[in-house]
Amino acid sequence: MIFAYKIRHHTDFSEYLQKAKRIAQFTVNQRNRDITYDNVKHIGLNAVLAQQLIKVYKRNKTLKRVKKVNLVVPGRAVLLNRARKEICIPSLGFSFYYSFPNTFEKVSLVEINNKYAYVSVTLPEDERDVRSWIGIDLNTTGHVAVAASPETGKVAKFGKEIPHRYKKYENIKAHMRARRDREGSMALERKKRRALLNLTNDVANKIVDIASETNNGICLERVGGRSKHRTCVSDASGQDSLNSWIFYQLATTIELKAKLRGVPVAFIDPYNTSKLCSVCGHAGKRYQKKFECPVCGHVEHADVNAAFNIGLRYPGNAQSHADRGVCEGSDGAPEELLITALSASERALA
Ligand SMILES: [Zn+2]
Repeated sequence: MIFAYKIRHHTDFSEYLQKAKRIAQFTVNQRNRDITYDNVKHIGLNAVLAQQLIKVYKRNKTLKRVKKVNLVVPGRAVLLNRARKEICIPSLGFSFYYSFPNTFEKVSLVEINNKYAYVSVTLPEDERDVRSWIGIDLNTTGHVAVAASPETGKVAKFGKEIPHRYKKYENIKAHMRARRDREGSMALERKKRRALLNLTNDVANKIVDIASETNNGICLERVGGRSKHRTCVSDASGQDSLNSWIFYQLATTIELKAKLRGVPVAFIDPYNTSKLCSVCGHAGKRYQKKFECPVCGHVEHADVNAAFNIGLRYPGNAQSHADRGVCEGSDGAPEELLITALSASERALA
């Protein structure tokens, strides 16, 4: 899998980019000829960079006029210092630092314009063999993500503040709209997205941390209709829009961050995950956030029960319920976290 990171740099490459554009245009103009570096040597761009540009623009059979060109540096022309997290491009006399994890196999390509460096890295395809799986239940009220490990019985909850923050922004926006402050409302919408994006990123990071450190895979509900809407469209209640946005954002961020660290992710069929008892497998009753099983007497927070059910549907598992014993009368979820190191920050959020 190839993955690209965008890194802001503060170096002026105008001169190089000018030359690159000339080479690209030359290659496009002379499409029928077999262009080599010798044909563009006079332009004065480093051979490695020039050859890469010729290679890229030769392939394009329809382009007539080159408008925007990036400098394209092949992986073999990049020096990598993993310890210092530094990428050096000798042909440009340029080096910069990266902050993404060192889990990639190699740098396959670096593209540079006057603002950003786009670093494409190859990630290992193989996923680790996991000991067990944790289920993640995504919600729009209360905690947006609840993680549960059917193997250990441990539970962690995340992102309680997200629905509140969403509502707060929506309320202020409604006031602005009432005052016909279109600009202010649009600016606030951007601010809202950034804030919620940061919060969902945090939640995804914590979940993947837990899975990675406890050697678990992650089970998520299959992303179906409700999470395919990528945009955050406001409706009257504000609920459906948060719904689709959060589901899409969280699921894709968790999947991506997990892949980066070799943690397997399974998307399971969400059918009845919130209706069945995770202890005995029979249908139970829900009273808002409370789940009760009339068969075995199990009582649990409804989201936690759902998260256990999701965790139990990992690939290859035929068993539909856990042998966790009955925690009779335990109202709500055990608050113990899967990793003690995270409990402090989570308590701060609660
Ligand atoms: Zn039961």
